[in-house]
Amino acid sequence: MPTKVSAYAAQSAKSPVAPFFINRRDPGPNDIQIDILFCGVCHSDLHTARNEWQNTTYPVVPGHEIVGRVTKVGKDVTKFKVGDLAGVGCLVDSCQTCPSCEQGLEQYCDSFTGTYNSEDKQLGGMTYGGYSKQIVVRQEFVLRVPANLDPAGVAPLLCAGITTYSPLRHWKVGKGMKVGIVGLGGLGHMGVKLAHAFGAHVALFTTSPNKKEDALRLGANEIILSKNQAEMDKHVQSFDFILDTVSAPHNPNAYLNLLKRDATMCLVGGPETDLPVTPFALIFKRRSFAGSLIGGIPETQEMLDFCGKHNIVSDIEMIPIQKINEAYERMLKSDVKYRFVIDMASLT
Ligand code: NAP
Ligand code: ZN
Repeated sequence: MPTKVSAYAAQSAKSPVAPFFINRRDPGPNDIQIDILFCGVCHSDLHTARNEWQNTTYPVVPGHEIVGRVTKVGKDVTKFKVGDLAGVGCLVDSCQTCPSCEQGLEQYCDSFTGTYNSEDKQLGGMTYGGYSKQIVVRQEFVLRVPANLDPAGVAPLLCAGITTYSPLRHWKVGKGMKVGIVGLGGLGHMGVKLAHAFGAHVALFTTSPNKKEDALRLGANEIILSKNQAEMDKHVQSFDFILDTVSAPHNPNAYLNLLKRDATMCLVGGPETDLPVTPFALIFKRRSFAGSLIGGIPETQEMLDFCGKHNIVSDIEMIPIQKINEAYERMLKSDVKYRFVIDMASLT
């Protein structure tokens, strides 16, 4: 018998996120049941709630930055016991047999199950995310949370953290490299912290002059106002790597021109429209424009352990779930410092 669980859902692209009840399956032998304590608010939640990527099935319960307490484990579960803290990110299942899964890159499996807005292979219908009291997940997709970190600040690591960690590692960002992070939001502020922790020289590109002090505190070595052409021009052909986290339509060419020969700009932001690319921004200097999707389970655990070791969490603003629609509006105005996290105790 599934359990009825309190949640918040959007019923259409135009309706606010509002109270709703969902079903969660009984934990099977390999499942872990988690009472959700905190859930981060990702811009992807907003894109999906409002059907900006035109792939939303309603009702949708967003939320894929989940930290909670284990309340039940199936008989075959070895990784966790009742009472443990546990994390769940953007993935709750994958085929486990394809080349991507075999390499721990479950995010590139053709049939992965997203934490929300994916086909629910157990219960039917769609998966429902972390804006809810409880979730049931197979043990392979549950992450260990470092004991020394604030669990509310850990929640955003499960998406914003891994989505920036993975490309920074893939392109081997480290000492002696000049690295740009575009946008200081949820992803961007984690990108700044992580690139700094990897030893790179970090430049933040921002449209918000008022974020300068924060960016320096978070680990940026310099701030570049992307709307100021004279400031941009000073950095032509100087970057080893740029990570673009911008959530809205923008012009990537302005940043591509700042890459050195053979350097890469990686897109993680998912604006709702296509981005224009000038061929010669790539052809001259043999530059690459790449993309990256979240991260696999082994790398997500590696990222959490790295953050535990280096005492890195997200800078958060805690909200009760009743303020979620207001939080979305503030996110659209770039008014987040630097991730909203829902205190799930507010959901009754
Ligand atoms: P966010 O907190 O809203 O941050 C986005 C930042 O982009 C803003 O803070 C702002 O920074 C900048 N920005 C906003 N509008 C802009 C504009 N018109 N021009 C230039 N810059 C602008 O969002 P987030 O949660 O970090 O997510 C960012 C994007 O990544 C979203 O599209 C999200 O869906 C996507 N995402 C992708 C993955 C993946 O796997 N690839 C995973 C998670 C999220 P400044 O004020 O500093 O300019
Ligand atoms: Zn996300």
